[in-house]
Amino acid sequence: MNTRQACAAADLQDPLAPLKHRFDLPPGVLYMDGNSLGVLPKAAAARAAAVIGQEWGQGLIRSWNTAGWFELPARLGDKLGRLLGAREGEVVVTDTTSLNIFKALAAALRIQEQRAPGRRVILSERDNFPTDLYMIQGMIDLLRQGYEMRLIDDELPLETALDESVAVVLLSHVNYRSGHMHDMAAVTALAHARGALAIWDLAHAAGAVPVDLNGAEADFAVGCTYKYLNGGPGSPAFIWVAPRHTRDFWQPLSGWWGHQRPFDMAVSYEPAGGIRRYLCGTQPIVSLSLVECGLDVALEADMAEVRRKSLALGDLFIGLVETRCAGHPLTLVTPREHARRGSHVSLRHPHGFEVMQALIARGVIGDYREPEVLRFGLTPLYFGYADVWDAVEILKEVLDSRAWDRPEFRERAAVT
Ligand SMILES: *Cc1c(COP(=O)(O)O)cnc(C)c1O
Repeated sequence: MNTRQACAAADLQDPLAPLKHRFDLPPGVLYMDGNSLGVLPKAAAARAAAVIGQEWGQGLIRSWNTAGWFELPARLGDKLGRLLGAREGEVVVTDTTSLNIFKALAAALRIQEQRAPGRRVILSERDNFPTDLYMIQGMIDLLRQGYEMRLIDDELPLETALDESVAVVLLSHVNYRSGHMHDMAAVTALAHARGALAIWDLAHAAGAVPVDLNGAEADFAVGCTYKYLNGGPGSPAFIWVAPRHTRDFWQPLSGWWGHQRPFDMAVSYEPAGGIRRYLCGTQPIVSLSLVECGLDVALEADMAEVRRKSLALGDLFIGLVETRCAGHPLTLVTPREHARRGSHVSLRHPHGFEVMQALIARGVIGDYREPEVLRFGLTPLYFGYADVWDAVEILKEVLDSRAWDRPEFRERAAVT
């Protein structure tokens, strides 16, 4: 595809193209940040109005039962599980990814204390999303039992790092910055072979790439709904536990929503039998309700088709950047190899921050991550081949004209 016409022709053949109309996209915007904040499903506005006007406004307290509020974390978890290779009753939508990391990590370490006592290493990746590393550090501080964090990087590959001292491996399936994807089944198998448990952070994988948690024999998984799942800003995250751990599973945030019979108002905590054990307290029902609107669109799409298109968009984007923007100091950060690539493409440029601000000013919305990395999300549900073409042409114009070299593009806001 080396003309805009060829790209537009590919859009006409695209079986996912009709799904774009299920979203409310602002005119004049090429949105390439669905990996950070998804777009607005058209159904969400009506759903929000119904939850606020009818369920809350009219139903009031009765809606916990009559509108299914109490069951919502598990009901949405079942829907989401279909995208993750999970069965019914294995996922709940609740809390934040960071909090769910805390719960999963605590649970995994407790299981390992019984099975493989003495292991004191929590293994992660230097390049992992910082909250994952911060939550590990907080857990180590809290436990004060000599746990340490070990980080894989170019010098310390997984094969070497994953020795008999590792209790738990916590990795992101798709890396938030580089877009690199781990082989979940292979890494999990290696962790198990060395006696460790595997927790997967699916923040950049859920809804973006095919995930098969049971097939990969993973132990725990967490992730966001506001990225590729289009749940809305700050929408609740999710957590999954392998059914083989459900009975041993303990989590320290033992709030009343995780109690076997919360309305007994008993003095002593008794954990719920199944996945509800992951819940802590009262959920943000308005935000939680809207998660379903994004999920319903995602479930209409064939995940194999989503993956096929995502890779095709990525190949097109990389190829066009290399030909149309040749001569500019852009370096591809994302692996070319399909098996190692998620659904965004990252490029390094010495003035990456300014270039991204200039792009955003022209309606190409991606984002910037330190150091010097421009991220471009490729979201097959609403982004097409001609969109890729247009975005690269605008990138070319910004680079050729040095339009990024202006004082206003150097100003940093709180969120990049
Ligand atoms: C986005 C992201 C998070 C976000 O965590 P929150 O607690 O929802 O803010 C966590 N982990 C990874 C890998 C992410 O990409």
